[in-house]
Amino acid sequence: MGRWRKKPQMVLCAALGRGHMIPMMGLARSLASTGEISVTVVFQNAGARNSIQEATFFSGLDVELAVLDAANLCEDPPWLTGGSVSARMHKDRSRRSPKAAAGSMDPESALRELLADLLASPSPPVCLVADFSLPWTAAPARDLDLARYVLYTDPANFMAVAYFCKKLVEMAILPAKDPREKKIAVPGVPDLSQHDISQYIWDSRDQYHPRVELWHRKTVESDGVLLNTFYELESSAVDALREEILPGTSLFTVGPLIVTGFSGSESDSRCAVYGAEKNACMEWLDSKPESSVLYVSFGSWEVLVDDQITELAQALESSGCFFLWVVRLAPGSSIGSLLPQGFESRVIAPGRGLIVTTWAPQQEILKHQATGGFVTHCGWNSVLECVCLAGVPMVCWPLISDQPTTCRFVVDGLRIGVEIHEDASGFVDRGEIENAVKMVMVEGAEMRRIAGEYKRLAAIAASEEGSSSISLREFMDKALKGRSYVPCNSGNST
Ligand code: UDP
Repeated sequence: MGRWRKKPQMVLCAALGRGHMIPMMGLARSLASTGEISVTVVFQNAGARNSIQEATFFSGLDVELAVLDAANLCEDPPWLTGGSVSARMHKDRSRRSPKAAAGSMDPESALRELLADLLASPSPPVCLVADFSLPWTAAPARDLDLARYVLYTDPANFMAVAYFCKKLVEMAILPAKDPREKKIAVPGVPDLSQHDISQYIWDSRDQYHPRVELWHRKTVESDGVLLNTFYELESSAVDALREEILPGTSLFTVGPLIVTGFSGSESDSRCAVYGAEKNACMEWLDSKPESSVLYVSFGSWEVLVDDQITELAQALESSGCFFLWVVRLAPGSSIGSLLPQGFESRVIAPGRGLIVTTWAPQQEILKHQATGGFVTHCGWNSVLECVCLAGVPMVCWPLISDQPTTCRFVVDGLRIGVEIHEDASGFVDRGEIENAVKMVMVEGAEMRRIAGEYKRLAAIAASEEGSSSISLREFMDKALKGRSYVPCNSGNST
């Protein structure tokens, strides 16, 4: 049986992948920080759980971590014996079923069992909040009569497009005659071209379409959707979703959900730097003038092809800017062989550029006063972090998924970014990159002013009386309503 917890409990189910996990950890922290909710975060495997530095993220908060991957429940991770954190759910051996210990359970069954166990505990949860890419969380919640909310980790702009696409296909607007013509109108969203909407969203023949269609269907079938955004940033899209696109759905804008100090993997939490000592990023930034450094990163997992890395290196060199570049390499590639001849002595050695080859402390970099611009793939966490932590303009180089739509929003909606255009083969040449970098770093004063204004609005939204705090409160009120929580003092309290 689970422990007695003094406050109403919410169970948060995190998806794999840093881009999904980071906002879920942010939500756990936001909820627990109210002092009114105890949180249990459920991970799908031990690797995901082990990447969480809970002593940093959740220090002093009523947050517990649990793992669904049944086989992993048999092993206590090393820090559980270190005494630095409070009791963990999977320390409780009664929670393991024989089937679970054999690792043969599918995630849906494992979650059903975990929730049933928690519901029978002295502090039953009031609701489940699941990542939107985990549709299989719906059945266990429904079967156990537990309210289920969804955390949508993409922007509201993308959500509006995703739910409006069916209409665009019915109206024969998609597929478009000219995929590059920006005249597709979606309520609340800047005009789009077909190129700005990933094919799997609208084309039922695309192999990923059924899967993503299911995610979206299960999202609106939930009791409500939490959006990792703040109202002032995406008010048009949020209003359109509420009034026109999904009028029956409760939407809560509770972002930005940002946690700092996330590591790249459970085994590698350091930041390896090419041509310098490890962990040198911040020292290197300290040595640079204000707003002079271009930060370049394509998120947590996307890898540019080798030729594109070489082209980007040439563009960064000829741009004349200081740059801090996170390079993720294809297996078998080495950074030394991809950089142009003499790059090391011309660019790295004199301190013009720094290359990080594993995982960079992105939020810290964005917060640093030397950072003046960001070349980004437009992953939503990266865009939010840029707006909320740095308030600097972006060079938008979207690769897949929600990123092209987010790029349109950053460039045409927020007006704080310059878009990179690829050629017909999908390659981006150095001149294109160099021009975009110069527009941001040299001619970007107006974009910088607007980005700074959004940074200010983000801080207000997150403040006690700000829109995101109010929205979080509304979500909590809805989740707690009807689920009167009567703590029964089992004598087993923490
Ligand atoms: N990130 C980081 N260091 C890195 C690469 C990524 O801290 O070297 C973090 C980044 O701050 C962001 C997340 O990983 O929070 C990436 O999420 P995003 O949605 O931007 O892109 P994805 O990786 O999902 O494509």
